[in-house]
Amino acid sequence: MTINRREFLSDTALSAAGLFLGSAARLTGSDDNPDSPSYNVMKELMKYRKIDSHTHVYLSPETGPEVLLDFADRLGIEKLVISRPVTGFDAPHSEYAVSNDMMISVMKKFPGRFIAQFTLNPQYPKESIEEISRCVAEGMVGLKVYYQVKINDPLYYPVIEKMIDLKMIILMHSYSGLGRGGYRTKYGNLYPNESTPEDFAEVARRYPEAMLQFAHIGAGGDWEYECKALQDFPNIYVDVSGSNNEGNILNYALKYLGEERLFFGSDNSYYQSVSKILAADLTESQRKKIFFENYNNMLKKGGYNVA
Ligand SMILES: [Zn+2]
Repeated sequence: MTINRREFLSDTALSAAGLFLGSAARLTGSDDNPDSPSYNVMKELMKYRKIDSHTHVYLSPETGPEVLLDFADRLGIEKLVISRPVTGFDAPHSEYAVSNDMMISVMKKFPGRFIAQFTLNPQYPKESIEEISRCVAEGMVGLKVYYQVKINDPLYYPVIEKMIDLKMIILMHSYSGLGRGGYRTKYGNLYPNESTPEDFAEVARRYPEAMLQFAHIGAGGDWEYECKALQDFPNIYVDVSGSNNEGNILNYALKYLGEERLFFGSDNSYYQSVSKILAADLTESQRKKIFFENYNNMLKKGGYNVA
């Protein structure tokens, strides 16, 4: 039976065990031609340097740092950008600081593997600004925030201004629900303060020098709408993480956002995250950019890049 590369990758991306359940030839073959039965998908995968721009440690019992590193080593991921957002709505500031302390200890326990992002809730304005300074002094790079407050809320302005000074990115949870009965998502997201593409656009317009990362277009939202709504904002990057892997997602994002604004990321969906990039219709140079160079070039702006 012959099976082409795209069929192989889309089959395996859907299977729980992912990439490694293909025919043995796919793992041991030596042919570089993707349509050959002895095409070696692992050899192709390992060709690319990788930074996982969006993943979490200790968000659940299955996400200890050792588990992430085990996946990362098998998939050839050099660096993982980790965070532990607080998911409750009325947690005190101290819970955010505890999360940040956990990331600092993980980063120090496994030197060179993790880029740790801090988290905060801008409803604690003074504490949040102090927390950024504390975390940066500990070597953390970048902010990850969740759905307690929308990204375009004035509460975020001082935080965004501080991040501009530091030349660090803000990774914000985002969503654009599919809508029902003709209603667009801004009336139908799961949580009232989840940031939508429109919220990002407003902030990008107000702060063109800020670097924003629209999280996980593979997270089940309306990614076609998301890509279209974000297309005119060069300071909004998009990570392609998430467990939803519709066939055309990468190429659609490429068409609207261009090859410099897309980041590889897993959001802890490991096999799917690499499979969707290999399965997409991309050139080698585009894969290099998405897997590694785009994120590293962003880091370079603040001097935090990987050598
Ligand atoms: Zn996430």
